[in-house]
Amino acid sequence: MTHMHIAGSIHADAVQGGPQWLTVPDDLNELDLKLWPRGTHRDDLGRIVVAGVALTDTAEEHGTPVYLIDEDDFRSRARDFITAFPGWAIYYAGKALLTRRVARWAAEEGLNLDVTTMGEMRIALAGGMPAERLGLHGNNKSDAEIAFALEQGVGRIIVDSFDEINRLERACADGGHTANVLVRVTTGVEAHTHEYIATAHEDQKFGLSIMGGQALTALVRCHSSQYLQLRGIHSHIGSQIFETHGFEVAIRRTMKLASQFRTATGVELPELDLGGGFGIAYTAADTPSTTAELAASFEEMIDHECRAFGIGRPHLSIEPGRAICGPSGVAVYEVGTVKVVELEGGRSRTYISVDGGMSDNIRPALYAAEYSGALANRTSGADPVLCRVVGKHCEGGDILIRDVFLPSDVRIGDLIAVPGSGAYARSMANNYNQIPKPPVVSAKDGVTDVMLRRETLDDLMRLDVGK
Ligand SMILES: *Cc1c(COP(=O)(O)O)cnc(C)c1O
Repeated sequence: MTHMHIAGSIHADAVQGGPQWLTVPDDLNELDLKLWPRGTHRDDLGRIVVAGVALTDTAEEHGTPVYLIDEDDFRSRARDFITAFPGWAIYYAGKALLTRRVARWAAEEGLNLDVTTMGEMRIALAGGMPAERLGLHGNNKSDAEIAFALEQGVGRIIVDSFDEINRLERACADGGHTANVLVRVTTGVEAHTHEYIATAHEDQKFGLSIMGGQALTALVRCHSSQYLQLRGIHSHIGSQIFETHGFEVAIRRTMKLASQFRTATGVELPELDLGGGFGIAYTAADTPSTTAELAASFEEMIDHECRAFGIGRPHLSIEPGRAICGPSGVAVYEVGTVKVVELEGGRSRTYISVDGGMSDNIRPALYAAEYSGALANRTSGADPVLCRVVGKHCEGGDILIRDVFLPSDVRIGDLIAVPGSGAYARSMANNYNQIPKPPVVSAKDGVTDVMLRRETLDDLMRLDVGK
């Protein structure tokens, strides 16, 4: 455990420049274990060790920036869901982090897998995930993606619009297929998270509205189709959610919709998918519940609503992405410059520039995501200073860690490790400023193994075919 205290008067100036939740750690060298892959520690030389691998060795072997995924940590979080939700189907949301190896881990641990595009389907299948354990999502699946999914025998397709229902029926007719479908609905829940990652309020692109009546119409439409096997309702209320209240409202409204569907058709829907969005700890201020606590409250809410609506318990599924791969990943950067910027009131802020940034992790720039970080190659006895860790891109918003206390002696060549980097960082990577994307290596029992190699300038040059 890291012992934190609210900043006293000595630190008041420094903390004034940071967010309210940020406190000055008693010991900067101590790791806040809830942020890191299980088993992370510092060795005798003061180096951070993940999955038995010193991050200095990872940096030396693979260069920086580099994403390291702790295989055992990923697998253990997958197993946590399998164990805590017996009888449920757990769909790992592949968009969070997907490589062939990750798909294999997911398959081996008994997870199913959500995909959204041709690329994700191809990688998942290549990794050995059986097609019947795939769920195909997306609000604008192409004819090619739908045809491929049907040919492969993808287990279920989550439909998102009337246009798509028509498109899917045509594809089934053309190819002689039938498809298992769930209808994605919007429940009107305002999940307390960033607007761009809240997905169940009404005014956004995903799903069909329960309140507006389209959801019921779509269910009846799918039910009456000769090509579609209607399995049930799908609801995903957002991401990085800590409160179960939003899920409770979503369960109530989807169950009510299921009972209205039964009234309309005489048929009880066999399945209900409640989506993902379970929050993880990115900073000391985040306090996610355990998977077991989550499961207990879901079971209670489901029981309650089934009884309230006189509905038999449907076959249930959830779709965690971040909660499985997020904490398993650590990004490692090398410090290139340290600059102290004077602020008004005699205060200052230390800007630490590293060799990556918004091209490998756009989340802070995209939706003000917060992270923390630690000096990875050594310990330090220097005083804590409030730092901002920034990337090397041509944007003022190219920030990796907005506010973090690091030792005042951080210098060129030091390594900064950012925990919680397994989800939606490398998977959202881009080539802004023509920077090649960093590698992703898996680590287990002291050994690393590349799963996505570093992009090279040759890769970039090959794409540039114009003269
Ligand atoms: C993104 C997404 C998820 C996973 O969200 P996490 O926050 O990573 O758990 C699950 N279901 C759907 C439909 C999604 O779009």
